[in-house]
Amino acid sequence: MNNLYKDIENQIVNIPDKIESIGIITGAGISQESGIPTFRGKDGLWKNYKPEELATPYAFEKNPKLVWEWYEMRRQIIKKAEPNPAHYTLVKMEEFFENFLLVTQNVDGLHEKAGSKNIIELHGNIWRARCILCNYKEFLETPLPEIPPHCPKCNSLMRPDVLWFGETYDTNLLNIVQDFFQKIGLLFVIGSSGQVSVPVYLAKEAHLNGAIVIEINPDFSMYSHFADIILRYKAAEALPILWQFLKEKWQN
Ligand code: NAD
Ligand code: ZN
Repeated sequence: MNNLYKDIENQIVNIPDKIESIGIITGAGISQESGIPTFRGKDGLWKNYKPEELATPYAFEKNPKLVWEWYEMRRQIIKKAEPNPAHYTLVKMEEFFENFLLVTQNVDGLHEKAGSKNIIELHGNIWRARCILCNYKEFLETPLPEIPPHCPKCNSLMRPDVLWFGETYDTNLLNIVQDFFQKIGLLFVIGSSGQVSVPVYLAKEAHLNGAIVIEINPDFSMYSHFADIILRYKAAEALPILWQFLKEKWQN
């Protein structure tokens, strides 16, 4: 623990005494300590399938029941999960800054549950389903009465309203993030491997526009290539302490 305090204290010396606006990118790692498995690693496997084999339009076309069963398994885990100190620290940070944007790759809804307000869910939300024909959307509880679920408007199949591997991003969302990230002084990247390239691109662009990038992740990631400050710790242990230090620095 001592190392963590010292490490943070040493690394934050070059952060300016005043920061006007701040951006955050989170990945599955921030929810790991809430008991939600990340995709990469053995915990991600289910019945010998890899997430990359299930979270695709092709898998859904081939076997919608199988894909929904996997989502139901994940929805059951997420239903029981509570936000952890890292999620709650982001809520406090949002209260401190007038200009704050939280961009999450997570679909678990834990940022909202913790109380964060200005959130962009880049990859959708696991509680929402969308009709593949008429685009009707609704929030569905778990367990589902019927797998796969059907659209109440047109009776076509409903799919999880999340972004699958190989699908394109909502350009409106990307534009909002890019505009905001042009102006930020600091960007936190928490618990993301960077295997999904668009969020890495967004972070890199912010960095080129002058933002100081702070990474919190126990392991190396694609963000580590350009991060200015790297904290190799778990999010729920490091972020609350980092915030204590920064708040003190900025309040004075
Ligand atoms: P990811 O690519 O964001 O990788 C997880 C990262 O978290 C790894 O780099 C790992 O080192 C790090 N990590 C693990 N434990 C951590 C901790 N306690 N604190 C900080 N960092 C920690 O995520 P993924 O699992 O490879 O998934 C890719 C995509 O799948 C995501 O973009 C998301 O859309 C989806 N996904 C979402 C959830 C969720 O909503 N909770 C869970 C799994 C996957
Ligand atoms: Zn429909």
